[in-house]
Amino acid sequence: GRMVDPRGDDEERQVEAALRPRRLADFPGQQRVREQLGLVLEAARRRGSPPDHVLLSGPPGLGKTTLAMIIAGELEQPIRITSGPAIQHAGDLAAVLSSMVEGEVLFLDEIHRMSRPAEEMLYLAMEDFRVDVIVGKGPGATAIPLELPPFTVVGATTRAGLLPAPLRDRFGFTGHLDFYATDDLVTILTRNADLLGIEAHEDGIRQIASRSRGTPRIANRLLRRVRDWAQVHGRGVVDDPAARAALELFDVDALGLDRLDRAVLEALCNRFGGGPVGLSTLAVAVGEEPDTVETVAEPYLVREGFMIRTPRGRAASVSAWEHLGLTPPADAVG
Ligand code: ATP
Repeated sequence: GRMVDPRGDDEERQVEAALRPRRLADFPGQQRVREQLGLVLEAARRRGSPPDHVLLSGPPGLGKTTLAMIIAGELEQPIRITSGPAIQHAGDLAAVLSSMVEGEVLFLDEIHRMSRPAEEMLYLAMEDFRVDVIVGKGPGATAIPLELPPFTVVGATTRAGLLPAPLRDRFGFTGHLDFYATDDLVTILTRNADLLGIEAHEDGIRQIASRSRGTPRIANRLLRRVRDWAQVHGRGVVDDPAARAALELFDVDALGLDRLDRAVLEALCNRFGGGPVGLSTLAVAVGEEPDTVETVAEPYLVREGFMIRTPRGRAASVSAWEHLGLTPPADAVG
């Protein structure tokens, strides 16, 4: 696995679970979403009914799952967690829906990856709190409508634009999560170092935060590796020298770019003259899956202004050429 991959595997999610903040007030960053969500939840609480369905969109590792659990916590309701890929058949969803209890929160991660029949069943459930249970097979099959108690769907997606409009429209509130400011990551890391019993200095924490690509999951991972380095080579203290040495060892540069990011920029500049070049061509050039290039490398390269997405493909900006120590061509943008 890459040190700066914002996606986590099951093992990492287990490690992370203990670090999740449980209340909205303990969730640093994403101030706008926090305020919007706070209002939606408080209004629902005063009305004494479940809030509108909530859609959370944004890159991986920014806290969508954490926020879903916080929503349930603030509503003092249980939460059921599943994901689009886990629901391949409409029957899988029917089983979940038909056992929902009143007020419960249903978290659907990667909701854009649900199958079409399941999606259609979800429309009806979200709108009318009803599922049609199909009994029998073939021409004799009948749909028996089953009333559901009101509940709240919290959907998560990496890009709200990936959702079909009818599904998107059934969410009363959409929160767009953005990359975190370094100061917010410092707050998160300081708390987590404390929870993990790690002695950490502000300069070390800041060094980690500034290389974490605005992503708490990456920040938490880098913290664990710097702690390892400090325990083996240092005095067990996460400070600036420990952070620099450990992150150099793991190939994470001062801007948080790693080997894949640099390979992408090098391919763009050296092989494709700065682009534009299509995603799949670019992925082949660096020996990665297009999905990895698109979800792992690209969002951060675009955000940092190294890469530009154009209708004809990806292009390198002037700062990309400069970051690689190359002279940008006269027609380079940005
Ligand atoms: P994915 O969709 O890949 O699961 P996600 O957006 O759901 O990503 P989470 O699993 O919620 O992200 O968060 C990843 C890790 O980062 C968790 O350990 C969580 O505790 C931590 N985290 C995320 N946001 C915050 C935050 N604002 N404050 C503290 N920790 C956070």
